[in-house]
Amino acid sequence: TSLLEVRDLHKRYGETEVLKGVSLALERGQSKVVMGPSGTGKSTLLRCINHLNPPDAGTVLLDGEELTARNLNAMRQQIGFVFQDFNLFTHLRALDNVRIGPMKILGTDRKAATELAMTELDRVGLADKADSYPAELSGGQQQRVSIARALAMQPKVILFDEPTSALDPELTGEVVSVMKQLAADGMTMLVVSHELGFARSAADEIVFMDGGHIVEQGPPDRLFTAP
Ligand code: ADP
Ligand code: ADP
Repeated sequence: TSLLEVRDLHKRYGETEVLKGVSLALERGQSKVVMGPSGTGKSTLLRCINHLNPPDAGTVLLDGEELTARNLNAMRQQIGFVFQDFNLFTHLRALDNVRIGPMKILGTDRKAATELAMTELDRVGLADKADSYPAELSGGQQQRVSIARALAMQPKVILFDEPTSALDPELTGEVVSVMKQLAADGMTMLVVSHELGFARSAADEIVFMDGGHIVEQGPPDRLFTAP
């Protein structure tokens, strides 16, 4: 079985059908980048996968198990999400942002959660910023904290929703390089991004969406190389 399998997802907002039957699968350790015109449903696809926006129809399977209303909380813990605008708690230091999930949701004790949080902050290059509040960090650093927060939950897969599009161009590189390292470490990742650098060098496959459908899918060297 695939690690993540999405079958025939449909989603409409009012009159507008945004997802018109989207299916895709991610194998363990695979990274896929979803690209396509603005307004085509890429972000909606990610939000439907973890039921942040519940799909109208279709199935999401994680490790072969279907997400349902009944198991949603347990399943969601295993699906990390990185938002475009970071979504950090502004009144909490980086360390607390990262360890609060393990402590409050997984019941990890404070000492173990702190060690885990420090390990993940170190992995994104921010161990020395553990005591900083989000407002004291650059956008790139805040996004790296939010990646550490996702990692601290030990998810099976991480969904990234335009993780660099709120950043000034000079700050995207540090986030892209953290994401490349995660991909190289074997993290399973589904990334909505226009970042060609990441797509070319770290994605196993590119998924092109247009008009609520997947219109093309394949390895970057095939899709990006002129014939
Ligand atoms: P993309 O990520 O490809 O830019 P989105 O998934 O964000 O596209 O949006 C797809 C369409 O759905 C857009 O027309 C957008 O305006 C609309 N949309 C997204 N979220 C909502 C919502 N919560 N309510 C109503 N319409 C929405
Ligand atoms: P307490 O839990 O005792 O109230 P905090 O956890 O808020 O204290 O603070 C612990 C301090 O130790 C923080 O300043 C944090 O940055 C630091 N710290 C904790 N664990 C590590 C670690 N593994 N490596 C480096 N510094 C750490």
